[in-house]
Amino acid sequence: MVIGSGPAGLTAAGALAGFMDRVTVIERDPAAHGPFRRRGVPQARHTHTLTAAAQHGLDELFPGIARDLTAAGAVRLRMPEDLLVLGPAGPLPRSGGGPALLSAGRDLIDAVLRDRVRADPKVTFLQEHEVVSLEPGRHDTVEGVWVRARDHSAAQGFGPRRPIPADFVVDASGRTSRAPRWLAGIGYQPPWETAFATRTTYASTVYAPPVGHVADWSALLLTGAPGDPRQGMLHPVEGGRWSVTLSAADGAPPPAGHAELLRAAAALCHPLLHEVIHAATPLGPVYGCRRPEHRWRHYEKLRRWPDRFLVVGDAFVTLDPAHGHGMTSAVESALVLGRLLAAHGTTAGLSHRLRRALAQQLAPAWAGGTRPGRRPPRPSVRTRRPSCPIASDGSNEPSEPAT
Ligand SMILES: Cc1cc2nc3c(=O)[nH]c(=O)nc-3n(C[C@H](O)[C@H](O)[C@H](O)COP(=O)(O)OP(=O)(O)OC[C@H]3O[C@@H](n4cnc5c(N)ncnc54)[C@H](O)[C@@H]3O)c2cc1C
Repeated sequence: MVIGSGPAGLTAAGALAGFMDRVTVIERDPAAHGPFRRRGVPQARHTHTLTAAAQHGLDELFPGIARDLTAAGAVRLRMPEDLLVLGPAGPLPRSGGGPALLSAGRDLIDAVLRDRVRADPKVTFLQEHEVVSLEPGRHDTVEGVWVRARDHSAAQGFGPRRPIPADFVVDASGRTSRAPRWLAGIGYQPPWETAFATRTTYASTVYAPPVGHVADWSALLLTGAPGDPRQGMLHPVEGGRWSVTLSAADGAPPPAGHAELLRAAAALCHPLLHEVIHAATPLGPVYGCRRPEHRWRHYEKLRRWPDRFLVVGDAFVTLDPAHGHGMTSAVESALVLGRLLAAHGTTAGLSHRLRRALAQQLAPAWAGGTRPGRRPPRPSVRTRRPSCPIASDGSNEPSEPAT
């Protein structure tokens, strides 16, 4: 059983389907066919790219998926040829072939993955169901979960709780995961956390390029001058659109609305981004994201841990979005899960090794966000309390109504 159908949940389901007779993906949101906005993934409104490592890993789990993504409209960006990087000293050289990125709306990435997972007859989606707790088993195990179905006529929006048994439970419910509380609820210590409150804020929106737009670049990155915390980024996404994100590493509030976004773009180190989006047509609101966390819940350090339970993806380690590595880590975790399952032959007795193996796999990406020079200015926080979940859509309300 997998909780959550983001990249971590879907790739974990893909890995598990190779070994289990049946895999159920429980998702609080609808999990219909095709791309659509989901309340549970507010970050989907911001520019998302899949690294070469993520594409490679996805292809191992779902052969041919990169082709599915490009067929659905994801744009292949050859690096550095297709990306014009403009810094205070002018453009960076664009010669020499590097790995290609895939750029797409996050809703599209999730939809293509979801369709691949759904195509496996072993996998079932239980959509519009929220997991609320774990069901403990004998001898330090988890034997399933308790869920409640969305019910719009009910006072809290959900129906009564009911148990669902499972041989193995993977929590992939993202950065708002309640696994620390669920563990505490069945008598386990919640994990220590190391968290950096990054100060970076983001504002993103989507444009139709100006009619007749021609350029020798497909994507733009405007980096800040020394001491200038602002950056701008333009990525082509499906439907011939541009996904544009402005960020400010000094905690400045994200621009609220298109007029402010244009003003912020005009203040960047180079006028090009402002010029092109000024002539482009906005296709939706400007969405803000304030100070996302860089957080590690140290499940691997807990002495007592229930077998048949695992935490993956942002629910385990939430990486600073500045690195664009969260989906890569999710995919790599699924590969670790698949490899250990192949070596061990069964999920029984594997959870201890798995959480430590995942911690090892996640360490380099985590260190990349905390090494000297990249360390966010606020001190780290260590806590033993179950972390307080952030409302899933709390920090990402549109800063202006949809047009
Ligand atoms: C501004 C921003 C930009 C980013 N850009 C990039 C990028 O370019 N590249 C990249 O690789 N990463 C990027 N990331 C990070 C990326 O979005 C995350 O790392 C990724 O979404 C993590 O996937 P996940 O499956 O762990 O969690 P999520 O994608 O958050 O999915 C969790 C799922 O669990 C469901 N759920 C939650 N609770 C429950 C419950 N109790 N019961 C049932 N279902 C539940 C939710 O509805 C959701 O579908 C960015 C993040 C931000 C904030």
